[in-house]
Amino acid sequence: MVEITVASREEKEAMAAIQAAFAEIERIDALLSSHRTDSLISRVNREGFRAKVPVEKDIFQLIREAASFSEASGGAFDVTVWPLSKLWGFDEGGRRPSVTELRDAVAKVGYRKLVLDQGDGSVGFTLPGMGLDLGAIAKGWAVDRAMDVLAARGMTDVIVDAGGDLRVAGSRPGKGFWRIGVQDPRDSGSLLFTLDLTDTAIVTSGDYERFFEEDGVRYHHILDPTTGMPACGCRSVTVLAPTAAEADASATAAFVLGAQRGVAFLRSRPGVRGVIVDGAGSLHWSDAALEALARGLRRP
Ligand code: AMP
Ligand code: MG
Repeated sequence: MVEITVASREEKEAMAAIQAAFAEIERIDALLSSHRTDSLISRVNREGFRAKVPVEKDIFQLIREAASFSEASGGAFDVTVWPLSKLWGFDEGGRRPSVTELRDAVAKVGYRKLVLDQGDGSVGFTLPGMGLDLGAIAKGWAVDRAMDVLAARGMTDVIVDAGGDLRVAGSRPGKGFWRIGVQDPRDSGSLLFTLDLTDTAIVTSGDYERFFEEDGVRYHHILDPTTGMPACGCRSVTVLAPTAAEADASATAAFVLGAQRGVAFLRSRPGVRGVIVDGAGSLHWSDAALEALARGLRRP
């Protein structure tokens, strides 16, 4: 679900810009969705071991960015996590894999085993069964591309909200900002706090987005590439960054790293800041100035 808000005096131009932005999001979804068997990414995952698959220029760039982000996060974020996502199958309800299945899938994950050929813009794998999963960055990247389309058409006061992945430009007329709410990870009906923002992306990764429960344990979709298990230690991570792609990837990486290492990682990235809700519900801010901006915070 994507919602686009534009404030403009030119209704016709604004509507046309919104339609163009949605068309761009649909183009990207058709290329990158791993749920669609006819998507580019599904073809790369089927054929990339036998022969390198050439991809669109901007998609190659995105995959390269995702691979270098994998490196920068020490593999906490790993763009080749697909064998594990497929195994857990959260999109079809999910099930707990066996120890052997997990071990086999973990062996097929690793951004270093990915082959990116700058020459012909193709993508390949060094092991059979490998695959790309852009699920932790593509939604943010699509929000950025939609924002580019709106900006190119002169729309200055905009929200693009892809549910958890959001970017704002300009402000609500007469206000000077857009007021954005951050969801409580254990109560979808209430907000942890709100922020008054302009010209930034804000993205949340949470263990409540896709999960199943078994014997009182929550198994969710953000996976630790080293163990193959759902990352434990966080309920949600909210990240602000100049672009939604950066915020999206950073939120997932920090989630996998856990509260302490996650906060250190966010601090190490220029222009990035955020807050982590740990397993006990405590908040860890990477930046005191950001905490000071949070409105309606219930302080203990
Ligand atoms: P997000 O909601 O942005 O945190 O992305 C979660 C999605 O990214 C999952 O549904 C998977 O498709 C994929 N994913 C899960 N774990 C990882 C990981 N450690 N690195 C990269 N992508 C992941
Ligand atoms: Mg993400």
